[in-house]
Amino acid sequence: MAITKNDIIQFITNLGETEAVELCFDALNSRRTKHQFENGDFEIDDVFCIAQCSFGSFEGEVDKRATIELYAKSYRENISPPSTKYGLNQMGKCEFCKVELMSYDKWVICPVCETKNELT
Ligand SMILES: [Zn+2]
Repeated sequence: MAITKNDIIQFITNLGETEAVELCFDALNSRRTKHQFENGDFEIDDVFCIAQCSFGSFEGEVDKRATIELYAKSYRENISPPSTKYGLNQMGKCEFCKVELMSYDKWVICPVCETKNELT
């Protein structure tokens, strides 16, 4: 029996939050490309990132900016992501490219520039 798109969606929907983002991160990371130029410059593009976004209003005033944090994987070996909803509780900013990051672990690799970071 062939696996259908709906089977995959149902499977991901039933995973815990951190398991779902970890699975999507691994699946999408293979699309990452890097172009190196003769003068040493480079471009990293086609980076598909998993993000948590927040947007809304408070006391009738709509926020003017959304909060966007990119999911970053741990670089430590043998660390399993927690399956609970509250597993993504480590946050910070990439020291190199300055994107906002979130993860289940304190020691992570930025999904954009691949720099190691320590979250709080
Ligand atoms: Zn970065």
